[in-house]
Amino acid sequence: MDSVKDFDPVIYSLIKQEEQRQADKIRMIASENYASKAVLETTGSVLTNKYSEGYAGKRYYEGQQIIDQIEELAIQRAKDLFGAEHVNVQPYSGSPANIAVYLAFLQPGDTILGMALPHGGHLTHGAKVSLSGRYFNAQSYELDPATGRLNYDAIREKAKTVRPKIIIAGHSAYPRIPDFKIFREIADEVGALFMVDMAHFAGLVAGGVHPSPVPYADVVTTTTHKSLRGPRGAMIMCKAKYAAAIDKAVFPGVQGGPHDNTTAAIAVALKEASSNEFKQYATQVLKNASTLATALIEKGFKLITEGTENHLLLVDLNNKGLSGKQAAKALDKAGIVLNSNAVPYDTRKPFDPSGIRMGTPALTSRGFKEPEMLQVAELIDQVIRNFKDEDFLSQTAKKVKTLCSAFPAPGLEHLQNN
Ligand SMILES: *Cc1c(COP(=O)(O)O)cnc(C)c1O
Repeated sequence: MDSVKDFDPVIYSLIKQEEQRQADKIRMIASENYASKAVLETTGSVLTNKYSEGYAGKRYYEGQQIIDQIEELAIQRAKDLFGAEHVNVQPYSGSPANIAVYLAFLQPGDTILGMALPHGGHLTHGAKVSLSGRYFNAQSYELDPATGRLNYDAIREKAKTVRPKIIIAGHSAYPRIPDFKIFREIADEVGALFMVDMAHFAGLVAGGVHPSPVPYADVVTTTTHKSLRGPRGAMIMCKAKYAAAIDKAVFPGVQGGPHDNTTAAIAVALKEASSNEFKQYATQVLKNASTLATALIEKGFKLITEGTENHLLLVDLNNKGLSGKQAAKALDKAGIVLNSNAVPYDTRKPFDPSGIRMGTPALTSRGFKEPEMLQVAELIDQVIRNFKDEDFLSQTAKKVKTLCSAFPAPGLEHLQNN
């Protein structure tokens, strides 16, 4: 990064500091990861200089000899990996991808049915503050109060009552696997389209350790930067009969020119995600999450649904004498980075909820396995017990740094040589 260093030492220094932070911390934000050096290089390439509104073979500007090949390759790799009939790789990120799906199939005021935000759904699944909740009649389903799990009878009843045009499955903070087959049946019973937003667990699907929604859903959206470990971006997959509607909604409906550097980096990430190493990574993400869950339960933590079957855990701290925000702040000082999170039927406010969410994709990418997860559980427990002890927190941060130094993170290998 010599050019940045010369021209803009301030930004250079901030990037270097962020590199060091990512190297030295146990990063457990469930949506984050470490993209590979190949993905980072591609994202930073001259492809950022090109404009290519339209689709391969039907562009508005000339000079697309190379870009068309890149986009077609990204699409083909996504089709091969996920078995999708049609793929659009242009959405700028997960939120615009979901908005494009709504634009493709809905009129303002139409009804959608998604998972409630405080129960693990995403803003774009109909939250009132989001366009999805303002321009549409957004109805939501909630988790079962007794089990913390999806209740398909209740979802079916709700669907029959509100008659949505689209039913959305998928989540940002739910530690279980949705039953896509039942969702499909419910959608068929009420004549709704079935959409799955697999932003969080796409990497697990790619790695073959999570059921794929692709055979069941009319439309599947995903980010590419979470468990899938690619650049910041998104894709929409759909049945062939919806291809034209989806493509038109993305461009010109929601967006202008695609980010060709991102498209190429998605292609690289999809090649990585087709490898055996990636299957091992996805398998280990699950092992790490379940090891952590078991260890935390043994230490008296209350996990929503008593465990996990994906990459994330949701912990209710009500029995621990501190709020989610207090816990997340203390853990951050101790070098363990995660986020506070609402738990189902939370009585606290969204900005300072009762729980914390933690995920294993990033630390699995840097090579943490079961023994390290036991250490992580121990560190989390100690920090929660001593959350007001600043000295203890900074001592822990040093221990965390030492632990991390033995596990060079993808994309940050160069720091190990320093
Ligand atoms: C992260 C996420 C998104 C949005 O992704 P952005 O890239 O942040 O816009 C959409 N849906 C779900 C379920 C997510 O978890």
